[in-house]
Amino acid sequence: MDQIDCVVVGAGVVGLAVARTLALQGREVMVLEAADAIGTCTSSRNSEVIHAGIYYPKGSLKARLCVEGKERLYSYCAERGVGHRRCGKLIVATSDAQLAQLQGIIDKALANGVPDLVLLTRYEARALEPQLECLAAVHSPSTGIVDSHGLMLALQGDVENAGGLVVLNSPVVQVNRSHNAIILVVNGGAELQVNTLVNAAGLGAQALAARIDGLDREFVPPSYYAKGNYFNLSGRSPFARLIYPVPETAGLGVHLTIDLGGQAKFGPDVQWVSSPDDLVVDPARSDGFYAEVRKYWPTLPDGALNPGYAGIRPKIQAAGESARDFLIQGPATHGVPGLVNLFGIESPGLTSSLAIGDHVSRLLTVS
Ligand SMILES: Cc1cc2nc3c(=O)[nH]c(=O)nc-3n(C[C@H](O)[C@H](O)[C@H](O)COP(=O)(O)OP(=O)(O)OC[C@H]3O[C@@H](n4cnc5c(N)ncnc54)[C@H](O)[C@@H]3O)c2cc1C
Repeated sequence: MDQIDCVVVGAGVVGLAVARTLALQGREVMVLEAADAIGTCTSSRNSEVIHAGIYYPKGSLKARLCVEGKERLYSYCAERGVGHRRCGKLIVATSDAQLAQLQGIIDKALANGVPDLVLLTRYEARALEPQLECLAAVHSPSTGIVDSHGLMLALQGDVENAGGLVVLNSPVVQVNRSHNAIILVVNGGAELQVNTLVNAAGLGAQALAARIDGLDREFVPPSYYAKGNYFNLSGRSPFARLIYPVPETAGLGVHLTIDLGGQAKFGPDVQWVSSPDDLVVDPARSDGFYAEVRKYWPTLPDGALNPGYAGIRPKIQAAGESARDFLIQGPATHGVPGLVNLFGIESPGLTSSLAIGDHVSRLLTVS
């Protein structure tokens, strides 16, 4: 049987970032990916926003890893020539109820170590974005956008330059244990003995964890899927900054993001679905988008929105339950030596990816 020190399951942005951290520490690393390319799942079906770290509960992993990850990501992108832009965003209040929430957003950000938010009057916001309609807004200058595929290619390059391997078409179907060794069974029946296993399988993380011999099922959370649909805007973007409504419960509201090519899109909304493969955007959902977007951009023309793509948030709580933090568990929690499971790595997972890499490596040293 072949032996290798560390295997990371999943070549999304998080798996690649974890593999990079371990490879740069001099460890022997292999990434096993089920698909025939890197980053074909959630990592290529998101808003590509570098989040500032505003909304998450103080002290949560989402807050800490996002704030740390944001700075790491900006530096990394600059260093490695990965496309990105610190374009800033406006969080806009379009009702009295939302207006009352703006100061709370600023306070929450401050508690998370994001001290640069500024409250703007309607006039100040419109001076920045003349087509915007709102009662007031919060400006977040450290929010930006990133080329997520370029980022993943750079991470893969770092893994490979440090001697690691990214192996495609290799779904891990079973994990057995023999004394302190972990034995992976890859599709086709090949076996691989490893010391360290990082389960960064995204939407497949629970299914994989359920097949890990000796892992108590109490450490495998349930899976729920909250689809986020996007609609593309025909024509030029009316805004230079990202525009977000005051957030809703399961997502951040139907916001406008711009990609590095200047194309604007709206989304994601929140549609709870029963399958992680339900990725078709129903054109009929555009009615809801027109209504939401016109709250802050009343002149959105009829017929300007076209179905784009969808991504699925890997939720670990059901619709209506309170939001949960990233769930990243190492040996000190579940008792299986050499194993780290990552569950519920929804937004801001892209922003946090480099910081998640360090966090996972720390969990592996505390067993
Ligand atoms: C709609 C939406 C918008 C978002 N917007 C943002 C944003 O703007 N900013 C931000 O910071 N974050 C955002 N996120 C979150 C971010 O996209 C995710 O946190 C991140 O992409 C998760 O990466 P991952 O590597 O954990 O998972 P994935 O990208 O899903 O990768 C997991 C990989 O594991 C593989 N796999 C699964 N099972 C197996 C197996 N058994 N064997 C081998 N391989 C396996 C899969 O094929 C897949 O390639 C958004 C998410 C969604 C859904």
